[in-house]
Amino acid sequence: MKRALALLAALYLLAAAGSGLAERFGALACGCADECWCRRPGLNRLRWVFPWHHLPRPTPAQKKDLGSAHS
Ligand SMILES: [Zn+2]
Repeated sequence: MKRALALLAALYLLAAAGSGLAERFGALACGCADECWCRRPGLNRLRWVFPWHHLPRPTPAQKKDLGSAHS
């Protein structure tokens, strides 16, 4: 059981490292807003292996709405 967990953790880190490399070479591009957690240094490695609670980049129309009405 411990071995399986270690293997899983190793695979997870490998996936994180691989996707980080793919991003560096332009194979992947994040569409998140600048405020998203995955934009922070250190956390961006987990961007592709932890796809929850991302903040999508607001469309120009949404940006206009935010500017005129605070809701
Ligand atoms: Zn994000």
